[in-house]
Amino acid sequence: MQNFNGFGLAAPLVTALTQMGYAKPTPIQAQAIPVLMQGRDLIGIAQTGTGKTAAFALPILNRLIADKKPAPRGGARVLVLAPTRELASQIAQSFRDLSAGLSLDIAVVFGGVPHGAQIRALAKGLDVLVATPGRLLDHLDARVATLGAVEFLVLDEVDQMLDLGFVRPIRRIVRELPRKRQNLFFSATMPPDIRKLAGELLHEPAEVSVAPAATTVERVEQKVVHVDASRKCDMLVELFADPAFTRAIVFTRTKRGADRVARSLDQAGIGALAIHGNKSQGQRERALAAFRSGQARAMVATDIAARGIDIDDVSHVVNFELPDVAEAYVHRIGRTARAGKGGQAISFCDASERDSLRAIERLTRMRIFSLDRRGDKGPKPAPVVRKPAATAPDRPHHAPHRDPRAANQQPHRVRQGRRTRPTYQAKAAPAR
Ligand code: AMP
Repeated sequence: MQNFNGFGLAAPLVTALTQMGYAKPTPIQAQAIPVLMQGRDLIGIAQTGTGKTAAFALPILNRLIADKKPAPRGGARVLVLAPTRELASQIAQSFRDLSAGLSLDIAVVFGGVPHGAQIRALAKGLDVLVATPGRLLDHLDARVATLGAVEFLVLDEVDQMLDLGFVRPIRRIVRELPRKRQNLFFSATMPPDIRKLAGELLHEPAEVSVAPAATTVERVEQKVVHVDASRKCDMLVELFADPAFTRAIVFTRTKRGADRVARSLDQAGIGALAIHGNKSQGQRERALAAFRSGQARAMVATDIAARGIDIDDVSHVVNFELPDVAEAYVHRIGRTARAGKGGQAISFCDASERDSLRAIERLTRMRIFSLDRRGDKGPKPAPVVRKPAATAPDRPHHAPHRDPRAANQQPHRVRQGRRTRPTYQAKAAPAR
């Protein structure tokens, strides 16, 4: 499908699409919209970023336009359930943008905020209600919401809703719905428990699926190390004691941070170069050449500077600081795992970065394996050994770190030729 004209959408929707700059349907839209326009139930296997929100919002809005009715008091004609308040807000905004000029009543209901405004919105009646399951259940229990007039049920990001323990609230909510309704069910993955739930809720669904946007993520072995901010430099040096770190890109958030980190690696005898927007073209090219040739084991870069740099055989990506924008994480770790190969990504996360980590896990739909090294006081100052760049150290420059809180936790030492390295047991991630 080359444009949106072929779907038979109402004129105001086509105008809104033009205003929003959507020229061409995305694959999930091209597949899902015709099926939904026929009134069929649908299972969509698609991630965020594929355009799935418009894929379900457009046919629903089309029906609301064709079949005008007053919004039901205390309830809604369309119910969308989503796992998080951020996603719920985004979905509601998409409905608003796509129905610009149609004066539909659209509201969001989620936890963590006072009930009053939500109760008032429900009381007036809604065309579209986007809700997280827990808070909607509260309103149902308080009898300030009724769902007897719902014509469309959308379950978005079902896999995440189940991860968050929403399966029972969803089942309870569904019991309040009329039997005759159109069901739309979206999930990035379809393991058996999710398929079973779909089987219970949907009636002869069509199934469409689109490839996930970020397949590299799956090829990269990822790890998060929870650390104190003040210990990051030492921990980074410790990582380079591993000779497997042959060619690593270290990401920082700022240019100054990149310079600082490159300096501390260099002082520890690890050949490192910083590359960022304040460097001249000549400096950048020399840095890249040294990194490509293996003269420098580490390149410390900011996100913008690293864009467009294509280097093979990057063994590791280290996120010295997590990016503000979760998508940048996917771009960063994709620097290893190039050309179908695997790679490793290690991310430091201090107390101020927990929200960024949560956003990354939401985006990648993965719980990243984590180690807890907070409270790690590190070694006694070790003598600084200057070594020529590009030679892998044959022993750590710093003594291995111990977690002082784990008094009886003896690191298990692994002899590797002349090197002795500690391995630490993974601890559960801190409550987030
Ligand atoms: P979603 O997967 O629904 O979260 O959408 C991801 C992003 O793609 C959002 O920023 C949408 O605004 C945008 N988008 C959705 N459909 C289209 C389209 N057909 N053309 C351009 N952008 C789109």
